[in-house]
Order: sequence, then C-alpha cells, then structure tokens
Amino acid sequence: MTNLISGIKCRDELKKNLSKRIKKIKEKLTLTVISVGDDEASKIYIKNKIKECQSVNIECNHLHFENITTNKLVKIIKKLNKDSSVTSILVQLPLPKNIDENIIINTIDYKKDVDGLTDINIAKLYSNKKGIIPCTAKGIIDLLEFSKINIEEKNVTIIGRSNLVGKPLAVSLLNKNATVTLCHSKTKNLKIHTKSADIIIVAVGKPGLINQKMVSKDTIIIDVGINRINGKICGDADKSVYKKCKAVTPVPGGVGPMTVYEVLSNTLECYKLQKDKK
Ligand code: NAP
Repeated sequence: MTNLISGIKCRDELKKNLSKRIKKIKEKLTLTVISVGDDEASKIYIKNKIKECQSVNIECNHLHFENITTNKLVKIIKKLNKDSSVTSILVQLPLPKNIDENIIINTIDYKKDVDGLTDINIAKLYSNKKGIIPCTAKGIIDLLEFSKINIEEKNVTIIGRSNLVGKPLAVSLLNKNATVTLCHSKTKNLKIHTKSADIIIVAVGKPGLINQKMVSKDTIIIDVGINRINGKICGDADKSVYKKCKAVTPVPGGVGPMTVYEVLSNTLECYKLQKDKK
C-alpha cells in the first residue's frame, strides 16, 4: 500500500512552531491581500489564507476592487510599501487582463513580497541568496524535509515550467543539490523522464497525466495539480499510481495546505528581512 504524504499533518506541525515564533514578536504581523475582479477560485483561496493567518495571530487586511487600472493599483501598492504597519503584501493572481501583472508584482517592495514573485526575489533564489521563496516551491521543499525524504543526490523530474511553480521549484531543488529535469508541453516522451526519477513533481493541471505505466515502484510523487471534475477535486496523477509507487501526496490534502502555510511563514520571513535593514 502506498504511503500518503499528508500536507495537512505537516502544515499543522510546522504551524505550531511558527505560532510560537510569532508570539515572541512584540509588533503585530499583518498581511495585506489585494484582489481584483470576480474569479471564483481566487475567492476561495483568499478566504482560506485569511483564516490560516488568523490562526497564528497574523492580522489580515483584504483590499478588493471590482475594477481598477494598473496606475491606480501601483499607487496603492507604493503606499502599502511605505506603511510600516504592513508586514507583507499578496496580490491574488490571476489579475484581469487589463492590468499589467508584471508591473504590479514588481511594484511590491521585495521585502514585503510574500509570494516571492518580484524580479529581485527571483534573482536572489537563482543566486541562492536570502530572499522570499515562492510559496508552492517552498511548501514542497518543507513537505519533503518534514517527511524525511532526502533531496540531495536525488533525480527529480518536474513536469510544468511555470514562473509560479515549476521554475522556482527547479532552482530550489538545485540549491538543495538534487539533479533536476524540467519537463513541459514540448517534452518528447515524458515517460523516459518519469520512469527514471526518484521523485516526480507534477504541476500541469491535467488529470491523469501521470499513470501507472510512467512510474516505478520506488518513485515518490508530489502532485501539485488542482483539477475539478464533476465538483470533485483531483490532482494530475491517476489514482492507479497510488497502488504502484512508494509515496504520493493526495489531492486535496497534499501540496495545497503547504502552499497556504508558506504565506504565513513568508510573512515572518518578510518581517525578518525588514528588521535586517535596521
Ligand atoms: P501553468 O502556468 O498553466 O503551467 C502549466 C505547465 O504545464 C506549463 O509549463 C506547460 O508547458 C505544462 N504542460 C501543459 N501540458 C503538458 C503536457 N501534456 N505535458 C507536460 N507538460 C505540460 O500552471 P501552474 O500555475 O504552474 O499550475 C499548474 C497546476 O498546479 C494547476 O492545476 C494549478 O491549479 C496547480 N497549482 C496548485 C497549487 C497548490 O498549492 N496545490 C499551487 C499552484 C498551482 P508549457 O510551458 O510548454 O506551456
């Protein structure tokens, strides 16, 4: 029977420690979440993040706009950057098409960039310097470490090369001395890369992309995908792999809770970065 790697269990344990560290800080930590438009999935994610923040005593302020221009949003973010009562800022993606996502993200002070998506934080990750690491990538590293799955020297195949997940994850794993193969939609014969991997991390958004024939019995699968089929949530790995491989993260209950946890953890990291300056 395959081992299930529970992101909920890991999150709950790490949260206990985080909560203790936050309690020791005199100042109130605060996260400002900015959202624009009416994306239904975003509403659920935001609700979840706010609830989790409150559980470790991080105050959450939610600024929602039905409609806004890039320029106006830039002004709001610049004000938040200057506000010393704001520890971290999260812009919920995707933004509506009329807004320039790149400009908005890079307006955030990198020391308040809780998602680690500004060019400065990405450059820091690439040069293995202290900065804010994108939440899903950091969540996966924390989950592997918590589960005592060694990363060093492992062959890790990542499927999906987005700026949000695949690319920062590849660099994070390289920084931990894994040997990384990064696959995408133009990769020929995915099976060659999945069969030879010790760890497969799939972040595509296609249910059933990874099946039993593509994995070995000693493989560990980290399933990042979130797909909705007939109202039910599933990942990118077909259920058949659960019987065959060594360990799998379930969907839901695997990577998702870890991604949200890292918003809290990164808020503390933002606080520490800002303190370093003084
Ligand atoms: P994305 O920006 O759409 O990227 C998808 C990636 O998958 C792209 O790199 C694409 O390749 C690749 N791809 C598409 N079809 C493929 C195929 N047949 N074979 C191999 N690669 C293929 O998506 P994302 O934002 O990274 O998210 C990926 C999935 O993870 C989604 O289901 C999302 O909901 C989920 N997600 C979950 C969490 C969590 O916390 N659990 C967090 C973030 C995202 P190209 O680059 O060539 O187009």
